[in-house]
Amino acid sequence: MSQWTFPVPRTAVSGLKFPAVTDDRAAHLLALQFQLGQSEWWPAERLRAEQLRQLGEVLRHASSAVPYYRRRLATAGYRAGQPVTDALLSQLPLLTRSDIQKAGAALHSVPAFTAHGQLSSGETSGSTGSPISFLSSAMEQLYWNAFTLREHVWHRRDFAAKLGGIRYTEKNGSASGWGPSTNHIFATGPSAALRIDTPLPRQVEWLLKEKPGYLVSYASNIEALARDSLRRGWRPEGLREVRSVSETVRPELRSLVREAWGLRLVDMYSAKEAGYLALQCPDHDHYHVQEENVLLEVLDGQGRPCAPGETGRVVVTALHKFAMPLIRYDIGDYAILGEPCSCGRGLGVIREILGRTRNMMRLPNGDQRWPLCDLVHQPDVPGVMQYQYIQKTLESIEVHLAVDAQFSRDMEPRLTEIIHARLGHPFELTYVYHDSIPRSASGKFEDFRCEIAEA
Ligand SMILES: [Zn+2]
Repeated sequence: MSQWTFPVPRTAVSGLKFPAVTDDRAAHLLALQFQLGQSEWWPAERLRAEQLRQLGEVLRHASSAVPYYRRRLATAGYRAGQPVTDALLSQLPLLTRSDIQKAGAALHSVPAFTAHGQLSSGETSGSTGSPISFLSSAMEQLYWNAFTLREHVWHRRDFAAKLGGIRYTEKNGSASGWGPSTNHIFATGPSAALRIDTPLPRQVEWLLKEKPGYLVSYASNIEALARDSLRRGWRPEGLREVRSVSETVRPELRSLVREAWGLRLVDMYSAKEAGYLALQCPDHDHYHVQEENVLLEVLDGQGRPCAPGETGRVVVTALHKFAMPLIRYDIGDYAILGEPCSCGRGLGVIREILGRTRNMMRLPNGDQRWPLCDLVHQPDVPGVMQYQYIQKTLESIEVHLAVDAQFSRDMEPRLTEIIHARLGHPFELTYVYHDSIPRSASGKFEDFRCEIAEA
């Protein structure tokens, strides 16, 4: 493979094409990229020291300008300007989604914090069950774009290729560039967008017509496309890589994409309210924490840090969020940390991202577990195209199915046996049939959802 290099940027000065003298926006992004290209190789201790120094800035600001944090930080033992240590961090209380909803504007800086550029407000997607509103600054957007660019760099993308996206979007369309992380820096190939709620056969037509070099979509949709491709024998001509965003990726999906198209799946982990959290390592299927953007902890049920291999809750502190600080924010996901990566980057490793709290199954004895029971691959019960479990009570689960002609309802008893064995409890199962199982309003698909109210 030839050596990957950055294209020459666009110049802002006529006659000076190489090396280019870029405009200010491109210069900021490239300067950040230069720093990120260094810091990713730092030893973990040095990254941690810089994170804590940056966190000091956030805490100092929050304790003086954010009503919600004024007393809360003082009570936790923080005094403005003191050096921040891991010990201090571990004393700070967690911030839950419901804390954010209750606090409302008390989490906003007073007066409104405009030193980092124009503020914009947003809301997280409704599929999490409890959407939250947030404020972010133009500088946070700059960091967002810088980490988007890092992701392209890590995965050695060919910027001349076409980028295709099937995801949540207002309307279908096309653009001459890839988006704000690259448009100001250099000319890229075009992009094309299709709404995630487009029926699968139309998606296939679109893929075959647009021929994107890179495809971005949600895990469940990629899975549906790959299965359809295997079943009907079409191939996405010119596709070089599949990128997934927004939903949990199971290891089987990576093998499926390889089997269907001989391609690698590249996943990322981000949150609108906190920015990029982790990106897939260029050399492996696991993820590197974006330590320059967030301080990310994985904590067990007692609030202690998990060791590699243990499942815990993801708690993030956004390092550049001043208009509405998020300090030790329990984002509602579960993850498993990994050992340091052999690629040599000092950035922490997340072995697997498991998804949302409400995607966990609850057992009558009080245990919570990740339910893994794929119904599409059951040799005894062919014909299941799509499935979704909705846990209604501690003893009952609805099993929603979309099936084809190979399936018959006589297979329900066998399916029940399989589900009971895999879930480890004889739940009362109710089968509900659909032509296709709908997505949530935000376009996300959850294969397991627990609808038991939190005690
Ligand atoms: Zn790595």
